[in-house]
Formats: sequence, structure tokens, C-alpha cells
Amino acid sequence: MTNIVNHWIGGKTVEGASGTYGPVTDPATGEVTTKVAFASAAEVDAAVATAKDAFLTWGQSSLAQRTTILFRFRALLDAHRDEIAALITAEHGKVHSDALGEVARGLEIVDLACGINVQLKGELSTQVASRVDVAAIRQPLGVVAGITPFNFPAMVPMWMFPLAIACGNTFVLKPSEKDPSASLRIAELLTEAGLPDGVFNVVHGDKVAVDRLLEHPDVQAVSFVGSTPIARYIHTTATANGKRVQALGGAKNHMLVLPDADLDAAADAAVSAAYGSAGERCMAISAVVAVGAVGDELVEKIRERAEKIKIGPGNDPASEMGPLITKAHRDKVASYVAGAAAEGCEVVLDGTGYTVDDHPEYADGHWIGISLLDKVPTSAKAYQDEIFGPVLCVLRAETYEEGVALINASPFGNGTAIFTRDGGAARRFQLEIEAGMVGVNVPIPVPVGYHSFGGWKDSLFGDHHIYGNDGTHFYTRGKVVTTRWPDPADAPTGVDLGFPR
Ligand code: NAD
Repeated sequence: MTNIVNHWIGGKTVEGASGTYGPVTDPATGEVTTKVAFASAAEVDAAVATAKDAFLTWGQSSLAQRTTILFRFRALLDAHRDEIAALITAEHGKVHSDALGEVARGLEIVDLACGINVQLKGELSTQVASRVDVAAIRQPLGVVAGITPFNFPAMVPMWMFPLAIACGNTFVLKPSEKDPSASLRIAELLTEAGLPDGVFNVVHGDKVAVDRLLEHPDVQAVSFVGSTPIARYIHTTATANGKRVQALGGAKNHMLVLPDADLDAAADAAVSAAYGSAGERCMAISAVVAVGAVGDELVEKIRERAEKIKIGPGNDPASEMGPLITKAHRDKVASYVAGAAAEGCEVVLDGTGYTVDDHPEYADGHWIGISLLDKVPTSAKAYQDEIFGPVLCVLRAETYEEGVALINASPFGNGTAIFTRDGGAARRFQLEIEAGMVGVNVPIPVPVGYHSFGGWKDSLFGDHHIYGNDGTHFYTRGKVVTTRWPDPADAPTGVDLGFPR
């Protein structure tokens, strides 16, 4: 255990002082490769104080100054895609091509932030009354915090900080303690791009660090992405402390397959969306709802494809799916499959016995194979919980209406998809389904950077979705300025106690 990941405060590495560290594991080998410093409340205070100082000048900086730095950062990020993807694979386990995709989707938000001057143009109404103009402007909040999950250690922080700093705020990031290195490399690149010290800070840690951010009087807003129970806690606690909060939670994403769908395309999409990144995506498809008589044929097509997935270490170009994040998570995922038959599911594929036999160095990795459960009742735990692993549930519905009712009964409402050739049914689905992001023949409908990302129900707490226009709104507050410049030739107005008519 040689590497130590430390905090990044005021434009430089700051050694952890709390004496508490967490282990960072290579999921492919099970080996602890790094330890990450856990911040105490006092260390969080130091980061927030640094960010608050930096806001005094950054909050006054010109749009040109901010976008010049963001364009330089974009170029650096582009040049270091491979390196950041390798860091992600080493600590998260996802395959390199998938990690590269994550960096690309984060870069989209940097692109958006580079054009912040257009988004912050404001509004002006002239001559709303005699000699009176009204301007609506948006201003930064001050110090804002981001708390992020393990499954996208580069992309999810980039859903937040590029827009936050482009709007003139300063930022304190608390990344996942399971894969902390990518965020630190990003911090170095921001400094290399010319970002003034203290505008972007990283404190590592656990609940101690998070709780301090939630209660700190100088933190104005909190962006959170993670599991539903923690998202709910973050929203409740931070709003009680007077902060603006967007807290994105977990998911159970359904794909409704109508009888007229192209079943090969639907099976390709289901397999890619269910097992990509070993199912550790908040937009993974984890439940397919087959409508009418297509169920058996669809399950067979999914099975054929799923069986061929190559599982192996993320840094091997031949691998299509890597290991899970921790041993404990691997065992939890396996427990859902183990209990499935007793709950009434038909176990078509059971990946729980999977081992990497031909590579002894990976014997202790967090491996699990592909599982496919059919005829899953909605009462099964495998259906009710977000498993966050390579387990796909197939449910059966007689009609479109029954399928939609089933999906709408889920407490989650992140993403959902319909597969059909019927435009009218697809249109109806868009309007009737209770989820924040909908795909029509698109299994993972993650909005592009200039639209906003967010779910409904237990998948998001707060009023703002993340990035896009909602992102700019979240990281700024509005001000309306009413101005009267009398013409020198005007007669004196005189006193009038009445309300303007
Ligand atoms: P998590 O909720 O365990 O952790 C997220 C963050 O919260 C981490 O930084 C962690 O250190 C912190 N945290 C954990 N427990 C805490 C506690 N008790 N008090 C305060 N802070 C705490 O989530 P995870 O396991 O890292 O990520 C996976 C989850 O994130 C899944 O549920 C997934 O669906 C969700 N997710 C959602 C989205 C979305 O956009 N809706 C995107 C990515 C991931």
C-alpha cells in the first residue's frame, strides 16, 4: 500500500491530517492499491474557507476570463482522456472503452460551460413604463459543494463543477471514497488551465466530511448524486440548513417492449443497457416488460446475446464487462440471484458462480457473471430493489396499459424506454409515463449536455435537474433591476402615495 490520495485545497495537494484513511481497491485483483485520506470537519472548514476567499475575486471575474480557462481545460481534458480513463478502470473496474465514454460525456458539459456567456445573457425590457427599463440578471451563489458516487468518478463531478465555476461560484467536491483519483487529476488539469487557486477544491472522506458540508454556513448550495436513501438524507439535512439542493438518487429503469417491436434491436439494446458497466449505471435497464406474446422469443434472444459477453479485467481490450466495485457489493448482487427462484422467478442465466480461472492474479477480484431472471413477480426483491449489478429482470404484461401501470407503480422514475414501431403508442407513452427521461427505441436516454438530466419520484429530490439550463439556474440566483432615467426635459414627478396604476 504505497499510494496515498490527499486533498486538493487552494490549488495544491494538502496532506490529510485526521489520521483516518479508507482503502482503494483494484476490483479486478481485489488488492488494496491506495489509501485515501478522510477529511475531518476542520479540514472541510479549511477547504470551504479557501473557496470563500477565492469567491471574492472569482465571483467578480469577467466571462471572458472564465471561458478562456474553460477552453484551455477542455483541450487538456481532451489530451488526457486515456490517462483519466485508465485511472477510472484501475479503481472502478469498468472496461477502458466505457471509461473513455464516461470522460466524453463529462466533456460535453465542459463544452456547454465554455459557452456560458450566451446562457448568462440575461433579459431586458425597455420602456415598461415611462422612462423605465427592467433587466433580469443572474448572479453566482458563492461556495457550492458537490458530493458524487463511485460509478462515474469523472463524469458526475463534471455534471456539476464546469457550470458552477463558469457561473462564477467556487466549488468544493467530495468524490466517492471508492475511486478518488480521477477527481484529483482533474483538479491538477484545472490548475494547469489557469484556474485561480481555491476556485476548485477536493476533500475526500466519508459521512464526516459530507455532514460538515451539509451544515457549513458558508456553503450556499449542494449538488448530490448517489443512492436514494442518501439522496433523501442530503436533501432533508441541507434544506433544513437553508441550502439550495439538487439530490439525484437511485433507479430501476424499465424497458417496455410492444409486440410490434423489432425484437432483435430490442434484445441488442436490452443486453447493452443491462450489462454495460456490469449494471453499475443509474440509467442501466434493469427491468424489461414484455407485452403480449413476445416474451418467450425476446428472452431467448436476450439469453443468446448475454451468454456471449466477455468478462475480464477492464484494461484488457478483449473484455466487454469488468468486475464489481467491492467484494461486499458483489456478494449482495449474488444474493438477489440466489433468492430469485424461491420468490417465483425463472432463473434463465445464473452468473453467481463465475470465476476467472485462467488468470490466477485475478482470483480475488470482485467477479460475477451475467444473470437473467424471467417471469419476475413485482413482489420479488430482485425487482423491488436497485440491484446495481449485471442482473436483468424480465416481467410479463398482457397489454400496453398493464405495462405502463406496472412501470408507474415503481417508486423510482429515472429513465424508461419503449421499443415499438407504432408512433402513436410511443407518443402516448411519452405523455403517460412517470419518469424524468424517456427513450423511444433508445434504451439509455441520457440527455445531451445542453438538455438537463434528472428523474422523478425517488430518483430526484429538489426542483432542479442537473446540467443544461437547469444547471445554470441552479448555480445562479435571479435579480430584477428596475431603472428610471428621467429625460432632462421632464417636469418634476411630484409625490404620489398611490400604487402605480
Ligand atoms: P452512495 O449513496 O453510497 O454514495 C454517494 C456519495 O454519498 C459518496 O460520496 C459517499 O461517500 C456519500 N455517502 C455515502 N453514505 C453516506 C452517508 N451515510 N452520509 C453522508 N454521505 C454518504 O452511492 P454510490 O454507491 O457511490 O453510487 C451508486 C448509487 O448512485 C446508485 O444508487 C445509483 O443509481 C446512484 N446514481 C444515480 C445517478 C443519477 O443521476 N440519478 C447517477 C449515478 C449514480
